[in-house]
Amino acid sequence: MNLELSAEQTAVRQLARDFVVREVAPHAAAWDRAEQVDRGIVKTLGDLGFLGLTVPEEYGGSGGDHLSYVLVTEELGRGDSSVRGIVSVSLGLVAKTIAAWGDEHQKRQWLPRLTSGEAVGCFGLTEPGTGSDAAHLATRAVREGDTYVINGAKTFITNGTWADVVLLFARTGDAPGHRGISAFLVPADTPGLERREIHGKLGLRGQATAELVLDGVRVPAGAMLGPEGKGFSVAMSALAKGRMSVAAGCVGIAQAALDAALGYAGQRAQFGKPIAGHQLVQELISDIAVDVEAARLLTWRVADLIDRGEPFTTAASQAKLFASEAAVRAANNALQVFGGYGYIDEYPVGKLLRDARVMTLYEGTSQIQKLVIGRALTGVSAF
Ligand code: FAD
Repeated sequence: MNLELSAEQTAVRQLARDFVVREVAPHAAAWDRAEQVDRGIVKTLGDLGFLGLTVPEEYGGSGGDHLSYVLVTEELGRGDSSVRGIVSVSLGLVAKTIAAWGDEHQKRQWLPRLTSGEAVGCFGLTEPGTGSDAAHLATRAVREGDTYVINGAKTFITNGTWADVVLLFARTGDAPGHRGISAFLVPADTPGLERREIHGKLGLRGQATAELVLDGVRVPAGAMLGPEGKGFSVAMSALAKGRMSVAAGCVGIAQAALDAALGYAGQRAQFGKPIAGHQLVQELISDIAVDVEAARLLTWRVADLIDRGEPFTTAASQAKLFASEAAVRAANNALQVFGGYGYIDEYPVGKLLRDARVMTLYEGTSQIQKLVIGRALTGVSAF
């Protein structure tokens, strides 16, 4: 892997960094308290081209490679994980999946709107009864003439109440497990689709997370994304790249933890000198720095594999597993550097820890990533 960034990659990272410093970081604490990111940010993200990275220009995307996408995601995660998550889902899980699996009509219908920020997408896989074991989801779509009628429920759906389109996974056949699942693009204003916001999250409070209830939701047969019965493959292909995006967001959290810990340790004095001069505080800071670098290298490697057309699924699970655990450790270490001040929300590290915690849970828990990695290494599935 060539570790040197090109001029274009350096420029897009700087663009993202400047935007985050100017328009995201100063508002992150207030959005967290208000439990809502300013929705106007979506349009700005679109105008900057951040919602179209890697999507072909003919469909309104801004092109670019996956390392550029990772660099932008890292910067957004450094500023506010709630904003990072909006992009990772609307672009990473929805628009990129439509670009990969959609027919011409679906691409023309949704991609220009999603990449410009005019529309937001959400990814509806998890159900109240099926999280890690998504292959056994129960939502059902029944064919009636030229339409499908969908009944069921989804939960924990990021962007759920903001979304204009739901990439929804439902059972269309009697084939058992993943073979009976198909993917659909469901406009969020379709009658019968009710969305209820979930409150009281530990972190990512600025993000709209929702429960979706589908009661007789009717969509044209042309709303199916990819072939019938291939929905689980659609979902897994989205999540493989999605795990890289989560990992990049975690690098951003860990970097923000390092920035905060370094800043505070230099100006807080105890026992007659800055705490940065105490060996055990340096241990906390050096542990954070090593986590940042290791997580970054694993994440960049996934982008490099994708851009070279190499297999990347196991590498994505490795990066997501390590980076998410590293982000939690880094934020927790930074909080320790802040002492009691880290525990109140006037300082940024408590939010970093709360936001980091979910990264080991969604898009496959740490246990699920270990099973994916273990299966690839041993050839034996332990699911
Ligand atoms: P469970 O699957 O019930 O797992 C509970 C525990 O059992 C975990 O520790 C897990 O690791 C462990 N476990 C389960 N199976 C095994 C096994 N075989 N071996 C060992 N351990 C096992 N979903 C979406 O579809 N779209 C979204 O946009 C989305 N956004 C989310 C946002 C937030 C804030 C949250 C919290 C969740 C989101 N999710 C989303 C759902 C998320 O992906 C699931 O929560 C996750 O997959 C875990 O499922 P679960 O919560 O049902 O836990």
